[in-house]
Amino acid sequence: VSLSSSALLPAPAVIIRTSDRALFKRCRRKWHFGSALQRNRTISQPPSYFWFGTVGHFALEDYHGYNKYGHPVEAAKGALKAMKVASKKNNYELPDDYQEQFELLCGVLEHYLTWNAGRELYKTYWYNKQPQLEVKARIPIPIKPAILQLAGYSKAYYEVTFDRIVESLDDGELWVQDYKFFKQFNTEHLDYDSQASSYTWGASCLYPKPIAGFMYLQFRKVVPELPERTSKGQITTNMQVLAGRTTHSLYREAVIDMYGDVSLAPPQYKRVLGELAILEHEDGDAFIKRTKTTRTPEQIANEGQKILMELPDMLSPRLALYPNPTKDCHWECEFRDICQMVERNEDWEFELEQQTIDRSEENLSWRKFVDPR
Ligand code: SF4
Repeated sequence: VSLSSSALLPAPAVIIRTSDRALFKRCRRKWHFGSALQRNRTISQPPSYFWFGTVGHFALEDYHGYNKYGHPVEAAKGALKAMKVASKKNNYELPDDYQEQFELLCGVLEHYLTWNAGRELYKTYWYNKQPQLEVKARIPIPIKPAILQLAGYSKAYYEVTFDRIVESLDDGELWVQDYKFFKQFNTEHLDYDSQASSYTWGASCLYPKPIAGFMYLQFRKVVPELPERTSKGQITTNMQVLAGRTTHSLYREAVIDMYGDVSLAPPQYKRVLGELAILEHEDGDAFIKRTKTTRTPEQIANEGQKILMELPDMLSPRLALYPNPTKDCHWECEFRDICQMVERNEDWEFELEQQTIDRSEENLSWRKFVDPR
């Protein structure tokens, strides 16, 4: 009697990510298409907002770590160059509007340097002689062996990717920092945010110092501009036009350009400068904002418990993969067309193969084409 080769291989480990848990609870059909535990598919051409975030993350990783490029815009150019090489070699396309998106990103990163110069309250945390940037770590999950065996796994890990761990210059507290690039700031949900809870829990498991909480660093995809001029060539004083489009320092620059000194400018300009100053604070302006959320030790322990409760459901061989259609499917689900085909009993398997790629082939590691510095 000979054993088959698969019988000789050790059972694999199962890796769970926060995105998997969110997907699972949102819609089991979508989870089936997209989760690494199931079909692991993603659409073959990522939307440009995704591409924008990938390049932005690379630029900030370099800038806040070894800073080999000396400037985040230069790092972004390095990423773009590597992506162009990778796309040629691996026969995939960059988003149609990548040039436009790239220019916007460069403007956002330029503003970040000015923004950060006046707000440097945190520094990158170094651990084991490494800057804690784009940290990918796996935390063992103590799940019952019988549950794992039934699903064909030997161990379970929770995988986290921290954009940056920062240390407060004031009191040495550690925070998990996460970069987001949005059209508008979005912070209402942070107290309930599953990523904030699970990453605070994950970092608490990994680092020797307590974790104070989770910090969003949000970038609006808008570049601040010099204030508009009226038809008579005057600098506008209309706050409805100015708010969200310029900064206090750009407005000041325009006033000095026109009058030589702020003290020589008419009172309405001084009033606007005061109003713009009120909109800016140590954690942000109208373009970039730092928002923190904390979790108590009880909340951190509860997050661990939630993972232990959800995992057996996700691993169950008898899991029913029913969909959860909502009014948001049309804009938030990249599998919506395939989902409709399932509903119509059409050949959705073929379409899934055609329209999507395996997530592990996604962008085919453009990072290996980055120039070593
Ligand atoms: S379209 Fe809606 S119901 Fe269908 S897979 Fe996507 S999220 Fe689920």
